[in-house]
Amino acid sequence: MKKSIAILLVLASQIIFAQYPKDYFRSPLDIPINLSGTFGELRPNHFHSGLDIRTNNVEGLPVYASADGTIIRIKVSAFGYGKALYIAHPNGYTTVYGHLQKFNDKIEAYVKEQQYKQKSFEVELYPSTLKVTQSEIIALSGNSGGSGGPHLHFEFRDTATEKIINPMAFGMNKLIKDEMKPVISSLMVYPANDSTSVNKSKNPVSLSLQKQVDGSFLASKVVASGKIGFALNSYDLSTNNYNKNGIYRVVSYVNGSPSFKFEFDTFAFDESKHINYFIDFNRYKKLKQRFQKLFIKERYPLSLVSGNTKDGFLDIKPNVTYTYKIEVFDYHGNKTIVNVPISYEKDTNSTVVTSKGNYYVKTKSDYNFEFEKTAIYLPVNALYENAYLNISEKEGVLDIENNFEAIQNGLTVSLDMSHLSEEEQKKAFVGTVLGLKLDYNSSFRKANKVSAKVKAFGKYKVGFDNVAPRIYNPNFIEGSNISKLSTLSVSINDALSGIDTYNAYLNGEWILMEYDYKTKKLVHNLKDGKVVSGKNDIKIVVTDKLDNTATFTSNFIY
Ligand SMILES: [Zn+2]
Repeated sequence: MKKSIAILLVLASQIIFAQYPKDYFRSPLDIPINLSGTFGELRPNHFHSGLDIRTNNVEGLPVYASADGTIIRIKVSAFGYGKALYIAHPNGYTTVYGHLQKFNDKIEAYVKEQQYKQKSFEVELYPSTLKVTQSEIIALSGNSGGSGGPHLHFEFRDTATEKIINPMAFGMNKLIKDEMKPVISSLMVYPANDSTSVNKSKNPVSLSLQKQVDGSFLASKVVASGKIGFALNSYDLSTNNYNKNGIYRVVSYVNGSPSFKFEFDTFAFDESKHINYFIDFNRYKKLKQRFQKLFIKERYPLSLVSGNTKDGFLDIKPNVTYTYKIEVFDYHGNKTIVNVPISYEKDTNSTVVTSKGNYYVKTKSDYNFEFEKTAIYLPVNALYENAYLNISEKEGVLDIENNFEAIQNGLTVSLDMSHLSEEEQKKAFVGTVLGLKLDYNSSFRKANKVSAKVKAFGKYKVGFDNVAPRIYNPNFIEGSNISKLSTLSVSINDALSGIDTYNAYLNGEWILMEYDYKTKKLVHNLKDGKVVSGKNDIKIVVTDKLDNTATFTSNFIY
């Protein structure tokens, strides 16, 4: 009995002080490592899940297996990680390599065989026999998928749980020289509720920071009465690298005792969407600045902050002195400190100016608002906080007033189409009104209604896409001899709903064309050996998401 308790204690301590192997994995590249992205870095609607390693602005650098293992997953997509490899290692961790240009010959042959078999460029494969050894070249670095320039996305996961882990924990920090402190570009103080004022304001107030002789910063004075909280906009720099990357840890203290903390060690993919509540979303939407909040108004399931037993707020009362301190760390232990002097002052002047909407929405309930021609459904926890919303319909346009609340669970917008013909209904979608433009939302039709799950407030109305995609700009002249070319390519584009499928046929047989949405190019590699000597007929068929079809036919001599 005692023994089993002891074992349990040992197990528990291992869980709490998880130690990752520091010398097991090597760098995936053989160049000096400079990062254009760190783990947990704040991105649109997600926290970054790995390291983005700069590849000197070029593609085609050899990418090495970080350790022995088995390739358990290969994904080829025009979006996301583009061409990506997942290697499971015998120690229980998986490394991921994204935005690759090309796999090594062995993997490339396997993938191509599957692509021809499935007649699809985009494939997701789960091989079980592709073993790799440490330092084996597995691919060439690239810029495929949703990549804004050549780089390698390098990620670590727990193989069993698929939770993502900070690569620095596996010793990757040793590859990077960083003697520079994080930079706090801005600090804000927030009144927590209507009965609080800060510096005579009921709105968030920006504080100035002054560098002290000891290297720390002193914020401008805060006078307040009631509950207040802080948020900061910060980034990290490293030696010889101009990129503004994400910071690692922030801790705040009230009168010397810890008040609030977050740290980018590990999280699950489905937590990533909570970034919109982790930051001041209102400020982000208005000013594109990402302020990380050092308080929680409502509890929410983000493990990075849910370990906090305190909510991070300070309650400013008369005759009490407060010292508030924030420490911002990068992974290398460089630290920036801010001290904020706070004193009590009753504010008698400022009055509450809050624009109230026509509906009060509580997070614990779901709501269905139905109008003459439109409706919107808010599930439980659609928002993070109870809020007033202005919802109305005018001339068939549903308007959910954009007060920049962060949305947790998607809202379903439904628009009536009973006045439309069957043919018109087939081409209809839920459009987001953006000035004179309509943005497509992935939509479904049911009983004279078109609906879409949306994750933003705004105006919605029925849109139509009757226009076929465009196939243009072939890299060869019809009827010409193309023996000197190494690829066949065309450009494709769809203005409204977007490209859905693309298929190419050479002399009646399906051929692989790789799609890159950034360059709008469809490319066939002539080394696939599908062309015949003499005359070849090519046909390319492209559809958009509302089934409008474009067909391109041509021929050439080889
Ligand atoms: Zn990345």
